[in-house]
Amino acid sequence: MTISSTRKPCASVIVVGGGISGLAAARHIAMEGYKVIVIEARDRLGGRVHTHKYDTDGNMVDLGASFVHGVVGNPLVKIAKKLDMRLRTLHPVRRAIDHNGRALDDDLQDKIAKNVLQAFFYDTPKRAQASDKIPSSDIPLSQPMFEPSSSLFAGLKDPLEAFYARAVMKEFDGWTGAALEDVSFRWWGFDRETDGPDAFVSSGYGKIIDWLEAEILEHGGEIHLNEEVLNVEAVGALGIEASHTIVTTARATYEAPYTLVTIPLGVLKSKPELFSPPLPPRRQAAISRLGFGLLNKVILKYEEAWWPRCDEYLFLPDPANPGGLTLPRGGTGDKAVFVLDLWALTGTPALLLFVGADDGEVLETFGDEEIKTWAEGLVVQYLMPQKGIEVPPASSVIVTRWKSDPYALGSYSYIPKARPGEEACTPLDMVELSMPVWDRIFFAGEHTEREWFASVHGAWASGQREGQKLIGLLGGMNED
Ligand SMILES: Cc1cc2nc3c(=O)[nH]c(=O)nc-3n(C[C@H](O)[C@H](O)[C@H](O)COP(=O)(O)OP(=O)(O)OC[C@H]3O[C@@H](n4cnc5c(N)ncnc54)[C@H](O)[C@@H]3O)c2cc1C
Repeated sequence: MTISSTRKPCASVIVVGGGISGLAAARHIAMEGYKVIVIEARDRLGGRVHTHKYDTDGNMVDLGASFVHGVVGNPLVKIAKKLDMRLRTLHPVRRAIDHNGRALDDDLQDKIAKNVLQAFFYDTPKRAQASDKIPSSDIPLSQPMFEPSSSLFAGLKDPLEAFYARAVMKEFDGWTGAALEDVSFRWWGFDRETDGPDAFVSSGYGKIIDWLEAEILEHGGEIHLNEEVLNVEAVGALGIEASHTIVTTARATYEAPYTLVTIPLGVLKSKPELFSPPLPPRRQAAISRLGFGLLNKVILKYEEAWWPRCDEYLFLPDPANPGGLTLPRGGTGDKAVFVLDLWALTGTPALLLFVGADDGEVLETFGDEEIKTWAEGLVVQYLMPQKGIEVPPASSVIVTRWKSDPYALGSYSYIPKARPGEEACTPLDMVELSMPVWDRIFFAGEHTEREWFASVHGAWASGQREGQKLIGLLGGMNED
């Protein structure tokens, strides 16, 4: 193989982005003895895996991923065991609370929880795949989910129970990253599910990132932080092949036979100028069709926990004021709020509120103090409704803003319903996003993993996949 530039190659593979997919690939390649350089724009590794440490006492919170979704068949479980990470399997120890601070009775809670899980994870995917009519691509997930015959409402006695079930289901927009009205019904559940319950990573996800970093460095890899990649060039990309790649940052220019791009879908959407020559039109079309959703978190930390201990809470809206839970400037309303008790789960005296999809976007228009006031009001209303009991103010608030984050521009991918006059997104778009271009630029990231997109294990699997491909190609080159 000849490299026609005067610049010397500095590595076998340049990896753009130091999230879990980039690090997984870099580790794999470095362990095979090939030189790899990871270039990361942030001042930290991990991307959408971000464990924030409050202090040296072990108080921490994950601002990005915090669950291992499905502990059976999930490659992360083996890694977690090896790294002595604490995984806490959640058998919904949930307390659903109404707007007066009263817990729903146990039977009703169980019924709603069972119906929501059944409709979301089992019945609706089955209907999408096996009903006697092929669902049209413009049908949103909300349509079968909320129709009167939906298993969501099975066995519920009155309109109030149905209202609560609907509110809890709407809150699953934190799972999809988009309002259920925007997600495609046709492709719902088409990805391969891992099995078993979810597990909360109570020792923090960051341990995996630290381990990957150490392994890459130990095997001779380089990691560059604070270095945004401005351009990835496939040199001589006439037709379908190029000779090598050049990666440009504000600090340096790097040359390598192969570059692996792992930047998030949101960034790919907003920066077509990142590639020279521009990505082929069908690749650009797939990037534009696939949806990139949003989930944000608000974390109130206290000096001491003052609330009743319970892994998870669901704050239910007031039927007389269904929008009352959302931030004052709007949002979709009539949706429950999902809250984690970090005191019960990790020992950190904090409450974590999930704010998904449209409400997540509204959240990003507020300042920290306004959000703190809103969130403190909610947790007191739902968890300590007795008058006259003094609740201390939170000692700090952390608000994530993944949509405004220039190196994420959102949280994770989803398949949107078709918009009028536009070609529909399908899972094939993710396959398309996983293919190399000009035989030189490769792609990984959760958005490239059709079977496990929107997850940490999907990002991990995509890094392993591309690492394997590149090792094969590099082995081939050595033999030449
Ligand atoms: C709030 C939230 C909660 C989540 N919860 C869960 C969960 O509980 N369980 C789960 O399985 N998944 C969860 N996810 C999804 C999961 O975090 C992601 O799917 C996964 O971490 C993505 O990894 P990645 O390597 O594909 O991308 P990223 O982690 O985003 O890595 C890409 C890297 O590229 C860098 N980058 C971007 N632009 C440039 C540039 N121009 N130059 C150089 N570097 C650049 C970024 O800084 C980043 O580090 C959650 C995500 C969010 C945001």
